[in-house]
Amino acid sequence: MADVTRMTATEIAALIAGGEASAVEVTQAHLDRIAAVDDRVHAFLHVDSDGALEAARAVDAKRAAGEELGPLAGVPVAVKDVLTAKGVPTTVGSKILQGWRPPYDSTIVRRLRAAGTVMLGKTNMDEFAMGSSTEYSAYGPTGNPWDLSRIPGGSGGGSSAALAAYEAPLAIGSDTGGSIRQPGAVTGTVGAKPTYGGTSRYGLVAFSSSLDTPGPCARTVLDAALLHEVIGGHDPRDSTSIPAPVPDVVAAARAGAGGDLTGVRLGLVTEFSGEGAEPGVMAAFRDAVDALTKLGAEVVEVSCPHFQYALPAYYLIAPSECSSNLARFDGVRFGLRVGDDGVHSLEEVMSLTRDAGFGPEVKRRIMLGTYALSSGYYDAYYGQAQKVRTLITRDFTAAFEQADVLISPTTPFVAFPFGSRTSDPYQMYLADLFTIPTNLYGGPGISVPCGLSEGLPVGLQIMAPTMADDRMYRVGAALESVIGTLTPPEL
Ligand code: GLN
Repeated sequence: MADVTRMTATEIAALIAGGEASAVEVTQAHLDRIAAVDDRVHAFLHVDSDGALEAARAVDAKRAAGEELGPLAGVPVAVKDVLTAKGVPTTVGSKILQGWRPPYDSTIVRRLRAAGTVMLGKTNMDEFAMGSSTEYSAYGPTGNPWDLSRIPGGSGGGSSAALAAYEAPLAIGSDTGGSIRQPGAVTGTVGAKPTYGGTSRYGLVAFSSSLDTPGPCARTVLDAALLHEVIGGHDPRDSTSIPAPVPDVVAAARAGAGGDLTGVRLGLVTEFSGEGAEPGVMAAFRDAVDALTKLGAEVVEVSCPHFQYALPAYYLIAPSECSSNLARFDGVRFGLRVGDDGVHSLEEVMSLTRDAGFGPEVKRRIMLGTYALSSGYYDAYYGQAQKVRTLITRDFTAAFEQADVLISPTTPFVAFPFGSRTSDPYQMYLADLFTIPTNLYGGPGISVPCGLSEGLPVGLQIMAPTMADDRMYRVGAALESVIGTLTPPEL
């Protein structure tokens, strides 16, 4: 049998459905791959071999009994450690949740299980999903399979690195400011942020509740669409879940793969014309735009004048919401507890626990957010940022009158070496310069590989109107039909 770890999820599912490979064989091949390379990549915080093989055996039994299998049955998936899975350690990349085994499944994990996918384990991430490199994980960084001395992006670097290292054909991420798309871009894989409310936040450890969006990661656009369909759709357990069917992302990906974009208007955002982006990234992006026009797409310039305020607005809104959400980690209800010795007061236990349990970036965000929300400052900071958010939404609405989707590079720079941006938080925040506006608006965005710069992957971002996720899959699949998938050097 050919090496299943090099196959797409679509190919693996077909092998299993056709009886050419068992789900157990496929799972074992991926567990073997993880055993062979993950000591160097460190994409996983926890590998659940027993749970994975048990899930695989259940798929094989179903098939043997002649039961109908879903389109991704038996396909392995790696899950970012921000989502709960019953009984499986969930740390969110933080010491404060070390050893915590959640008593329930997140909706995403529940749907993954119901679809017969096989969860391999939990992937590394920046602590509480704050960061762009996985260097803020309390458990050490993940290496980029293209060059292990460079970052795989973040916060969901583990999920994207697992794909690029052929440790898993599918992965789940979460995107608050770019944490699915930016790791996708710098690892040469596909990462899609669905419309906010299009995928459930139930069981997703909250960072910034008005922005957090779980979504699919894969090596091809069609695989991402198939995963999106499985995890998406209304969930009564999430109060901001949209009560509407998932846009037909799979049909759109299949249509796009035909390579015809006749009549599709691509909006080039004037304000993202390359200032602050590496020349190599801009060159790869422009070549990809040329390729898209050859498929029949029309390019229009659109101006989004408020996008320049997206980063500062985000760094008020996200820390504000985080300072409130992270108040629950008090040493009493979950995970770590420090100083509970009968000598310290309850307040001291909370303070000692939070001091020992949170890393420097998380503390920075909590302090920023607490300040921005404090009485007398609320209007000047949080209130202002919310107004900017409205203006950015108006920019998107106006732009979508002229264009069907907006396009930009996903990130201003290729994968950078470890340590090169950790001393100045602002340099790290810039990684999400092009992705954050979409989060503030709430629409969907996808990163699709569009070429290389200095031998490292570059991603093209496609942004669509809310609940028009299908559009980005169509354009993304068309791009992929020209560029192909990117293959990293052998590990
Ligand atoms: N890098 C951004 C931040 O640190 C985005 C994180 C994310 O999308 N989870 O906040």
